[in-house]
Amino acid sequence: MIFLDNASTTPCNAESAKIMADELTHNYFNPSAKYTEALENYKKLEMARGEILKLVGAREADYSVVFTGSATEANNLVLNSSLNKHKANIIGAGEHSSIHETAKQFGTQGYKILEAPLTSFGEVDIEKFKTLMTPDVAFVSIMFVSNETGAVNDIRELAQTAKKINPRVLIHADAVQGFSKLKINLSEWGIDYLTLSAHKIEGPKGVGALVYKKSSKLEPEIFGGGQENGKRSGTENLPGVLAFINSAKRLHENLTENYKAVKEFKLALIEKILALSNSAGLELIINGNPETASPYILSLGIIGTKGEVLLHALEAEGILVGTGSACNSKHSGNRTLSAMGKTKKEVECNIRLSFSAHTTTESVQKIAEAIVRLAKKHNNTSR
Ligand code: PLP
Repeated sequence: MIFLDNASTTPCNAESAKIMADELTHNYFNPSAKYTEALENYKKLEMARGEILKLVGAREADYSVVFTGSATEANNLVLNSSLNKHKANIIGAGEHSSIHETAKQFGTQGYKILEAPLTSFGEVDIEKFKTLMTPDVAFVSIMFVSNETGAVNDIRELAQTAKKINPRVLIHADAVQGFSKLKINLSEWGIDYLTLSAHKIEGPKGVGALVYKKSSKLEPEIFGGGQENGKRSGTENLPGVLAFINSAKRLHENLTENYKAVKEFKLALIEKILALSNSAGLELIINGNPETASPYILSLGIIGTKGEVLLHALEAEGILVGTGSACNSKHSGNRTLSAMGKTKKEVECNIRLSFSAHTTTESVQKIAEAIVRLAKKHNNTSR
């Protein structure tokens, strides 16, 4: 099997899974209990916060971490706490549904939610962002890397622009698809909140994190025993957190080399698919800018071949890809691609390939050949 849907989830690396199993079976003590073993676990949890802060370049004096059950929960936590009812709020037009749907919900309760338009490459359009960003805007949420196209937003520039207009604006970045793949420097970016997820980076499912500036508002949405500094009650998932940290540290050790190798892979794959589709008389669409987008995500389509049909044809040959997040029976189309100005025909044919540090170049020929052959077989354009 060739797994090319790493943006949806990844296999947990064996070392992290072992750490988790060992902790669950042998070191199961509740970090809030009073005996020595429990106290040791409390210390491990605090060390884990420190590790996360180091990995995202956040000064411990300024930032802290809440561990959550998912990035979806972390995104909900920020929006529940920081969307402002009396002022305006901005989200990117291509945000993940855990931001988009939550903000929409608040919109129905009278909150003013503005959407920052995207460029044709899928980044937030900085010029259009400037026109939306007034002193009345109290909260901004823009993703670092798009889960649909890999488009990378310059969070530092967006934050500086926003803070120049309203120094009190709170800024959140969903960094789920960027963490452990691209460099993050929170203290330099100067933003207030950052969302992370473990299962996208070879960690376990059910673990997310919200990094937050200690001086910025963060109201809990789950109440109880007061764990996580009162920000998220419930017994902490220390085994999952430790596995998450291990996976993140492993990827960070080779972050630059991984980035380079995955980029080479992606560019070689595009070149091959382009050459084969040209000779087959097919029209290839690449969504986003392959040079500036994250190398870990490739959104493409062959005009006239439905993305979902191609996905299943590839699956039958052992190649697993995605069609992006919004294509299911309830939501047709793709919000991000539409916001980039893609036509219905371009959206319909979309598939998303997403890679990991372990994706190997030997598979380029096989993947490209299968995509083009199967796209041709299921193509309904008359050419
Ligand atoms: N944000 C982005 C950009 C994502 O890609 C995803 C998952 O696809 C999430 C948030 C949600 O992550 P989780 O599965 O941890 O809730």
